[in-house]
Amino acid sequence: MPNKSKILVIYTGGTIGMMMNPETNALEPFHFEDIYTQLPMLRLIDAEISFIEMLPLIDSSDTNPEFWVLLATLIYENYKNYDGFVVLHGTDTMAYTASALCFLLENLSKPVILTGSQLPLGVIRTDGRENILNSIEIAAAKKTDKPRVPEVCIYFEQSLFRGNRVYKDNAEHFNAFHSANYPKLAEVGVHIKYNDAFIRSTTDHLLKLHTQLDENIAIIKLYPGINKQAMQAVFVTEGLRAVVLETFGSGNAPSKPEFISILEEAVNKGIVVVNVTQCKGGGTVEIGRYGTSMLLKKIGVVSGHDITTEAAVAKLMYLLGEGLSNEELKHYMGVSLRGEITV
Ligand code: ASP
Repeated sequence: MPNKSKILVIYTGGTIGMMMNPETNALEPFHFEDIYTQLPMLRLIDAEISFIEMLPLIDSSDTNPEFWVLLATLIYENYKNYDGFVVLHGTDTMAYTASALCFLLENLSKPVILTGSQLPLGVIRTDGRENILNSIEIAAAKKTDKPRVPEVCIYFEQSLFRGNRVYKDNAEHFNAFHSANYPKLAEVGVHIKYNDAFIRSTTDHLLKLHTQLDENIAIIKLYPGINKQAMQAVFVTEGLRAVVLETFGSGNAPSKPEFISILEEAVNKGIVVVNVTQCKGGGTVEIGRYGTSMLLKKIGVVSGHDITTEAAVAKLMYLLGEGLSNEELKHYMGVSLRGEITV
């Protein structure tokens, strides 16, 4: 008989862990000693499950790089003792946290599944029940004694996604997450159907924890008529090392000389500017498809390919934290380090 998988569930906060306090009628975080009362069917899962709370519990809007490092460290410290990890997290910034964990945990060979819910666990119609149960089941799944999905993922409403490919695009629907540029890793119906061809393989290299994230970055989202002074104000930010430039379509931007010269000045000053499209679907930056993107290339803006803004933020913070030179940074933005881009 194969050993039961051991799963560590880490509760960080967010809607999923809320219960209605019958006295005050207000939603309050509940403590996980009560989890088996809430989810008695947890006992039926063929895995040994442990729970741990990361205190203080937070609304995920309060997530930050320091929190990502703490979470990655917690996983790293428990890595040998468990077969998989489930992180219960608020949905609002879950895609950023998943992306950050992908970079902080190099050579990951066990599942780290983030999940949450749109309705609290203590509400009758909650989506949290299904999300937790399936996440644990997926984290515990093995094929020829190896973890089925040895990567950082987000599980939400019957779908398993690569963590650095996903974005939240709905605050109301239960299927709140999508991944337009990379297929789902699994779909859950009567059976769990794994999309093996798109799942990363395990590695024999030891897990390496990275703990340095450099926050000296910014995002500029283009819009027609973008204010020059506002853009310049971003580029004069002290210590700024890199900017995610959210462009139009396949990576296009206004061709007006005064717009281009602001970017050129920034690039010449040593700020790395990464071209990431605002388009979710089919969204890869194709430099040179239109003349307007060619101009960006000419002045030294680098292509983000089909990376999400969330993953671009995490990747830049990670690469800068590694102390890379600008040239190295530009090079690695074009390399798929954790399956975050299609190249
Ligand atoms: N504001 C909550 C959070 O992100 C929403 C949620 O959990 O879905 O923590």
